[in-house]
Amino acid sequence: MTIHTENLHIEQNAPISTWYRIGGRADRFATPNSQNQLAQCLDLDPDMKILGEGANLLVGDTGINHLVVSMQTDAFKTIEIDQAAGLVYAGAGVPLPRLITQTVSTGLAGLQGLAGFPATIGGALIMNAGGKFGAISDHIIEVRAMDRAGRMHDLKKSDIAFDYRHSGLDHLIICSATFELESADTQQLKAQLAECMAYKTASQPMNEKSAGCAFKNPTLTDSIENIGQPGDRVSAGMLIDRANCKAMTLGGATVSNLHANFITTTSNAKANDVIALMNQVRTKVQDTFGITLENEVVIWSRDTEQES
Ligand SMILES: Cc1cc2nc3c(=O)[nH]c(=O)nc-3n(C[C@H](O)[C@H](O)[C@H](O)COP(=O)(O)OP(=O)(O)OC[C@H]3O[C@@H](n4cnc5c(N)ncnc54)[C@H](O)[C@@H]3O)c2cc1C
Repeated sequence: MTIHTENLHIEQNAPISTWYRIGGRADRFATPNSQNQLAQCLDLDPDMKILGEGANLLVGDTGINHLVVSMQTDAFKTIEIDQAAGLVYAGAGVPLPRLITQTVSTGLAGLQGLAGFPATIGGALIMNAGGKFGAISDHIIEVRAMDRAGRMHDLKKSDIAFDYRHSGLDHLIICSATFELESADTQQLKAQLAECMAYKTASQPMNEKSAGCAFKNPTLTDSIENIGQPGDRVSAGMLIDRANCKAMTLGGATVSNLHANFITTTSNAKANDVIALMNQVRTKVQDTFGITLENEVVIWSRDTEQES
C-alpha cells in the first residue's frame, strides 16, 4: 500500500453521505490518505467512526460529534489481482461492486453472489454482508486492520469470529483484505451475477432509499407454530409481514410492501421517522411472536443521544 505523507484534511460541519440521504452532519470529517493519516485521526478522536458507502447506516437528525472518517481515498482503494494464484487484495475503501466486476471479468469466482448491494470492502467485512448466494467471509483469507491505539494487525480467517452478519471486528478499523478465489469461465460468472441481480431487483426495493434490511434475522429460542423450531434462524421480513407491518408509515418512513424488512424513505423524511417506525415494528413483532428484533442498520447519533 502506498504511504502518502500529505497533511490530513479535516472538514468541519460536513455532510455524511448515506444511502438514506437523510440525517445530520459530522462536526468533523476526515479523509485520511495513508495509514499514518488514519493513525493521526485516532489521535484526534480514539472513538472516531468509520464511514463506508453509508449503505447500512442511519445518522441521527442532529448529526454526530465524533470525528467521521471516510476511507474512500486513493490509499485505501487499491485492488491487486494475482490471477494465476487466485489471490485478490482490496483496500477497505474499494466499492464491493467494483471488486466483483473486476474479479468476474478476470475469470475469478467467489464474489459474484454478492452482487446487487452497495458496500465498501471494510463495511461489508464488519457486517459479514451477504445473502442467499453467500457472504463476504466465504473467500477471505486475511484481513489487515488497525486497532484504536494505531497498531496494525494481520488476521487470518481462523482468527475472526465470522457468523451471520457478524465479524467481531467492530473494535478495529479494517484497512484491507485478501481473498482467495477460483478460476472459472467468465461468461458463467456473468450469468450468475445477472441471476443474483435479478433476484435482488425482484425481491427488494432496490430503487428506493433504504439501508437494506433494518433488522437481523432472529434465531428462535422457542418453537413457534408455522414459524420454526428452537435454533432456527427465521426471516425478520416474514415476521414483520405476518405482524401486519407492511406499508406502515410514520412521517417520511414506510415499511416496504416488497420486502417488509426494508424501511424506505421519502426525501423529506427525518432520521427520527425511521427510528420511531423501527420501534413500532419491533413492538408489533414482540407483541405478536414474543421475539425481540435486533437492529441490522447501524445508527449514529450524538453522545448525548441513544446510539447503536
Ligand atoms: C438497497 C440495499 C440493499 C442491501 N442489500 C444487502 C444485502 O443483500 N446483504 C447485506 O448484507 N447487506 C445489504 N445491504 C446493507 C449494506 O449494503 C451492507 O451492510 C454493506 O456491507 C454496508 O457497507 P458500507 O460500506 O456501506 O458500510 P457503512 O454503512 O458505511 O457502515 C456500516 C458499519 O460498518 C463500519 N465500517 C465501515 N467501514 C469500516 C472499516 N473500514 N473499518 C471498520 N468499520 C467500518 C461503520 O463504522 C458502520 O458501523 C443493502 C443496502 C441497501 C441500501
